[in-house]
Order: sequence, then C-alpha cells, then structure tokens
Amino acid sequence: MTFQKGHKVNLGRFKTEETRQKIRLSKIGTKWGHHTEETKRKISLAQKGRKGRPQTEEIRRKISLGLMGRPVSQETRDKISKANKGEKHGGWKDENATYSGKHSWILRNYGNPPFCEDCGLVGRKVGRTWNIDWSNCDNLYRRKIEDYNGRCRSCHMKYDNKSIVK
Ligand SMILES: [Zn+2]
Repeated sequence: MTFQKGHKVNLGRFKTEETRQKIRLSKIGTKWGHHTEETKRKISLAQKGRKGRPQTEEIRRKISLGLMGRPVSQETRDKISKANKGEKHGGWKDENATYSGKHSWILRNYGNPPFCEDCGLVGRKVGRTWNIDWSNCDNLYRRKIEDYNGRCRSCHMKYDNKSIVK
C-alpha cells in the first residue's frame, strides 16, 4: 500500500491537529449544550478548583458561549466522518477488496486448487473452507491462471513472506 498524498487512506492516519481540535470542540459543545445554567456553573466551579486558575464570571460566560455557539460546519462533519472511517477500516478494506476480487475470479473459473504446489498436500474442505489457497506468484493479480499456484495455508504464508521481503 502506498501513501500517496490526498489518498483516502491517509485521512484517518494523519489527522491534523486542526481536526482534532475541531472534534474536541464539537464534543465539548454538544456536552455543554445539554447542561442547565446551574450545572454549567457547577462544572465551571469544579474546573476552577481543580486547575487552581481563577476565572471571572465574564470569562466563563465567553468561553461557554464560544463553545456552544460554534456550529459544526459540514466540512468539519465530513472530516470527522472520513477520519473515523479511515481509522476503522482504512486501507484494509481496499486491499482486501482487491485481493478477494481477483481470487473470486480464479475460483469462479478454475475452482479450488487441487493440491499444494510446495508440499504436495491434497486439497480438501476443512470446515467451511478449502485448505489450499490460490497463491499469486508476482503479486500483480493478473487474470491469468499461469500466475497462480495452489498453496496450503502454511506454504502460502512462507511464500508470501519470502516475496514481501525484497
Ligand atoms: Zn503446502
């Protein structure tokens, strides 16, 4: 997976400080929006006590209004939603989609691999899955049967590890 600038995947991983701040503010805004004046006063007092920083009524009011009055723009919503998506699924979704997409092509056309190319293990169903995978020799996943070999789980893993280390 490459980290191209502007690629969808990067949004979740490189959340900017600005976005973080926006998320934080929007959360605080929502929380405070549900409190009554009395609760707000109590929270403010509690925070004042904890931080040991004196806050005037005027400053408290300004901060409170500032947070509550800040509308969460569509842009911020988009950023948050994209950031969340990126964090949860990220590149995995793309990568897996490609992987299984190409593999379903070969399964549709050639069925399950009959045996393991490396250790000779004969293919059979283990539980609900076939014990031999189609292994792609150059990782290009071209739609050519010549590029694929049957490999059992452990040989496949060994093979992929070897081919990943370049
Ligand atoms: Zn094997």
